[in-house]
Amino acid sequence: MISEKMVGLVNNSSVIRAMFEEGKKLAAQYGAENVYDFSLGNPNVPAPAEVNEAVKAIVDEEESTFVHGYTSNSGYEDVRKAVADNLNKRFGTAFGVENIIMTVGAAGGLNVIFKSLLNPGDEVIAFAPYFGEYRAYVGNYDGKLVEVAPDLATFQPDMKAFEAAITPKTKAVIVNNPNNPSGVVYSEETVKRLAAIMDGKQKEYGTEIYLISDEPYRELVYDGVQVPFLTKYYDNTVVGYSFSKSLSLPGERIGYLVIPDEVVDAKMLQAAAGVATRILGFVNAPTLMQRVAARCLDAEVNVAAYDKNRQALYNGLTKLGFECIKPQGAFYLWVKAPSDNEMELVNAAKKHNILLVPGSSFACPGYVRIAYCVSYETIMNSMPGFAQVAEELGVKAE
Ligand code: PLP
Repeated sequence: MISEKMVGLVNNSSVIRAMFEEGKKLAAQYGAENVYDFSLGNPNVPAPAEVNEAVKAIVDEEESTFVHGYTSNSGYEDVRKAVADNLNKRFGTAFGVENIIMTVGAAGGLNVIFKSLLNPGDEVIAFAPYFGEYRAYVGNYDGKLVEVAPDLATFQPDMKAFEAAITPKTKAVIVNNPNNPSGVVYSEETVKRLAAIMDGKQKEYGTEIYLISDEPYRELVYDGVQVPFLTKYYDNTVVGYSFSKSLSLPGERIGYLVIPDEVVDAKMLQAAAGVATRILGFVNAPTLMQRVAARCLDAEVNVAAYDKNRQALYNGLTKLGFECIKPQGAFYLWVKAPSDNEMELVNAAKKHNILLVPGSSFACPGYVRIAYCVSYETIMNSMPGFAQVAEELGVKAE
């Protein structure tokens, strides 16, 4: 018999992944061009040209044993230095090699940091709606995920509810900015209020509360929106970054953690993150991709393509009468289900080969997520189907 914990995880396996598999089945049945799969955040915009050029140059120029060998658990020193320098240039910080740990994407980084921080029973606060995998990542180390319900008017965190959720067992708070699934960017004002509440509670309880900033979408923002860099607002902040979305490299599994010197027990935490990388079985982040990332820190994916999709989808659906949050970042549209019935909307859409993810997967029922990291044609061709769904569910244009 397999582990009891895994039985639960298998039975509650990701709805998003299930939808993705369903999409592949439907594509085989009806033809890929007739299926509108908005389920997975798998970037459709190609990696910038610099990425492939870097891959070729690195394998041509560098000795293969160097490129393909083990590195320190925290990654190549020169790569970590390049990441630190790039952050310092962009955000006016003063990070050095020791502050950067190369990771196996954001997922790897979050597992490393939770492994390093959590004792069984420690609480980690997340703001709904949130990336559902957080539940598993916290559960992996026997932590307890505590949800804070959203402010449904803005989808910024509800500060009163947040303050009430912090207890002496709160070890960490995780924020994801820009947000998956809402597309909202937490404003500087929000961040300052969060920091003030956490500072106050640390003092009140005499505890340490770490702020974990999960930022795989940091560069994917629209209309000139600024994403605050959180280490500047709260000393006890760890940043988790990934190149999965910013360089369209999700399958290559590369990212990094920033553990600033200002963090409580910084030296121990940096050491723990290196050891956690090793003992979780990652050993080190993929070496070729470490080198590629270091060369492509200023490269940019075609954000304009996502923006075009964003406008088309938001304008198209609001015109039909759907209530949507206008995304400021990431590549997701967050849509209110008519009569708060998410499954009715998901099922009605599926009849027209349109695949959406129910809000419950993000701890926020009554909504659905539409991932618009698809081709523009997919969005435009899905519109007649959405129009029929609106009609069937009695959604009326204003
Ligand atoms: N965090 C959030 C909010 C995400 O949306 C994702 C992936 O979709 C991840 C983490 C994991 O990203 P990675 O591919 O870098 O592991």
